[in-house]
Amino acid sequence: MSLKYIDEYRDAGLARQLVKKIQAVSKKKLRLMEVCGTHTMSIFRHGIRSVLPGGITLLSGPGCPVCVTAQKDIDAFVELTKIKDVIVTTFGDLIKVPGSGSSLANEKASGADVRIVYSLFDAVNLARKNKDKEIVFCGVGFETTIPTIAAGILIAAGDKIDNFSVYTSNKLTPPALAALMETPDIEIDGFILPGHVSVITGTNAYRDTFEKYDMPSVITGFEPIDILKAILILIQQNEEGKPALENAYPRAVSDQGNVKAKEIMNRVFEVCDAPWRGLGEIPFSGMKLKKEFQGFDAALKFDVNVPDMPEPKGCACGQILMGLKTPKECALYKKRCTPMNPVGPCMVSTEGSCAAFYRYN
Ligand code: SF4
Repeated sequence: MSLKYIDEYRDAGLARQLVKKIQAVSKKKLRLMEVCGTHTMSIFRHGIRSVLPGGITLLSGPGCPVCVTAQKDIDAFVELTKIKDVIVTTFGDLIKVPGSGSSLANEKASGADVRIVYSLFDAVNLARKNKDKEIVFCGVGFETTIPTIAAGILIAAGDKIDNFSVYTSNKLTPPALAALMETPDIEIDGFILPGHVSVITGTNAYRDTFEKYDMPSVITGFEPIDILKAILILIQQNEEGKPALENAYPRAVSDQGNVKAKEIMNRVFEVCDAPWRGLGEIPFSGMKLKKEFQGFDAALKFDVNVPDMPEPKGCACGQILMGLKTPKECALYKKRCTPMNPVGPCMVSTEGSCAAFYRYN
C-alpha cells in the first residue's frame, strides 16, 4: 500500500478494507497499547475502537507528557509562582493540572504571574524584554519537545540572557516501555509506538527494548489508515508468533531519526533518572542540564523544596498510564472528576486518556 496524499490516509474505502483484514486475521484476545496520547485522541476521534473485533482491547500508555509528570514536579511548578519577581511560563495543558494543594491556574487567579506560551522561544523573548524579572519555563515533554528546549537554552546562552531558566521534567520514551515490561501484572501484547517521538529518536532507539522483551512493536502515524495498519500488523505478528519491530511510518521516521535534533538535545542535556506518575522512578528516563548549562536550571537557581506527596486520593491516573485500568474503572470518573473540575492530569490534558473517554466515549 503506497500512499502519497493526506486524504488517502483518511480514505473510507481503504479503512473498510483494513478493518475487514483485521476481522479476518484476528483470532486471539489481544491487549495492544497505544503509547502516545496523540494516538489515543486519534483512535477516539476516528471511532477506531468501535470497528475492532471484540477480542482486541486498546490500552492507553505513558505517552502524554503532562499526565506522566510526577506530582512532586507539579508542586514545584506551583511553588515557583510564589517567588518574588518570577514569571512562570508554561504550555497550556499544564496550567490546570492539580498539584497537592493548588495548580498554576489557581495561583494565576490569585495574582501570580503565570503565562501560557506557545513555544519556549516566547519564554526566552519574555526574559529579553523583562530584565527585572526571572522567567522560568516548566519543561515538560518527550523527545519531540526536548530539542526545542535545548535550542532555546543555546539561544539564551549565546545572547547572555541570565534571567531565564527551565525547571526540567523531561522524559524519554524507550526506558518507560522497558519499565512497563518489568512491571508485574502488566498484560500487553503489542505496542503502537509514537509517530512524532520516533521522528526524532528513529526506529533504532527501540531496538534494545524490543530485543530484550520480544514485544510486537509498530511505529505509526496519526491518520486512521496509519493506525488501522499498525493494529493489523500487531495482530498478524501475534497470530503468527513472530514479534518484530516495524516502522509503518516511513514517510516520517527513519532508522536514525533526526540526527541534528538529537545533537542539539545531547549538547545541552544528559540522561538522568526521572520520576514518572504511576511508574515511579525510572533509571535513565529523564534529561537534566549538563554542568555547563546549569545556570539555566531553575531547580538549582531557586531553592524549591517540595516534599513527595501522594497522587490525588482516588485518582487512577497512575494505573491508567500503565494500562492496568481504564478511565471508566476510576470511581471518580464523570462524578467528582470532569474536564471542568479535573482531579488528575489525565482529565486535564488534551492527550489524556480520561479526557478522551469523556469527550468521545
Ligand atoms: S477520571 Fe479523574 S480521578 Fe479518575 S483517573 Fe482520570 S483523572 Fe484521575
